[in-house]
Amino acid sequence: MSLLWITNGVTLDGEAAPFLIQDGVFTRHEGTAPAGADVLDAAGGLVLPPFVEPHIHLDTALLQEEEENKSGTLQEGISIWSRLQQELTEEDVTARAETVIRELMANGVLAARAMVDISDPKQTALPALLALKERVAPSFQLQLTGFPQQGLSSSERKRQLEAAAAAGVDALSAVPHLEASVQAGRDSLAFCFDTAEVYGTDVHIFCDETDDPSSRFIETAAGETIRRGMQGRVTLSHCNAMEHYDDAVMASLLPQLKEAAIRLVVCPLINTAVIGRTPGSPAGRGIMPVRKLLQAGIPTACAHDDLKSPFYPLGSASMLQAAHMLAHAAQLTSAEEMRQLIRMISTEGAQIMGQNGTLEPCAPGDCIILPVSGAADALRLQPKPRWVVRGGSVLVETIPEETSFSKEGVGV
Ligand SMILES: [Zn+2]
Repeated sequence: MSLLWITNGVTLDGEAAPFLIQDGVFTRHEGTAPAGADVLDAAGGLVLPPFVEPHIHLDTALLQEEEENKSGTLQEGISIWSRLQQELTEEDVTARAETVIRELMANGVLAARAMVDISDPKQTALPALLALKERVAPSFQLQLTGFPQQGLSSSERKRQLEAAAAAGVDALSAVPHLEASVQAGRDSLAFCFDTAEVYGTDVHIFCDETDDPSSRFIETAAGETIRRGMQGRVTLSHCNAMEHYDDAVMASLLPQLKEAAIRLVVCPLINTAVIGRTPGSPAGRGIMPVRKLLQAGIPTACAHDDLKSPFYPLGSASMLQAAHMLAHAAQLTSAEEMRQLIRMISTEGAQIMGQNGTLEPCAPGDCIILPVSGAADALRLQPKPRWVVRGGSVLVETIPEETSFSKEGVGV
């Protein structure tokens, strides 16, 4: 029998609570450490479910230095990536993806959904990432979404999406706002949903990632979900155009999203950087209207998304950095809103990936212990977890940095 006792920790709600993980699952236990248990002293730190990254690109990550995106736009990112994609090797994709997964784990992430571009005629990234998914499975849940960066207008691209489904991806995407017309965008969504139904995958759409306020593929996606009875299997990322929808459109849209049980993913790092750069376009905050969505009860997770890629030159693989950006862009700064930001990078993402995402009795014994006492300090300081625990065992440990001052030089 394995026993891990976590003492002196606090929950996100500020309650002091000991935790016991017995044989890999959380178990109710009061009082003191049971005999023979390994002990972690949280020293007043936050004990949280692991962070979850519901939207990241491993195939494009760490390629930023290959060619600079000088305009900073999504369009230049796409054209640079389509050139770099020709030169990928499976070894290179695997090595970069492993580096990012290690960085995610060091930052307390134990599950991620990677979006894999299946537009590459040579199909280099997909087999590399499918193999990596199997290899890391004992310590890290990697899901893959097949998405066609170049759209679904050609029969070759449709065949590639079907091949990705047959090869075993977890979810399928379209990019309807990049198609040549509204009808072509709707057709691409219909094909994506058709294929997901045939192969039994989830749907995870790159939706309305544009400055165009008339882009409303979110409504088409909700309609397809309801018509096919696919509630609970559909996630939409980005939805930037929604920021500009008027109250009448939102009043019609929100009930549709609820009926479709759609989950949303906001990507505040890349989208505050790339959205709103189109000359003459409405330049808002660059993200979906998160406050309105939360008030309406629409489940919304926060993603890190790109990491040093042709699309976005920054990123640290820290979910807390993404949540910190969202705190500003969505103006979520009350104590409860900051706790909600922490749930948006943990529990909400876990729901998308079909995980428990809690510390309740019988939940898998996975958690992180942050060296801060509450949500505000977690967001402000963005520390790595002191420990990352998987199945009741310490998987990653970080010794906090220590700064010392000379007695004479500082003056305070
Ligand atoms: Zn993305």
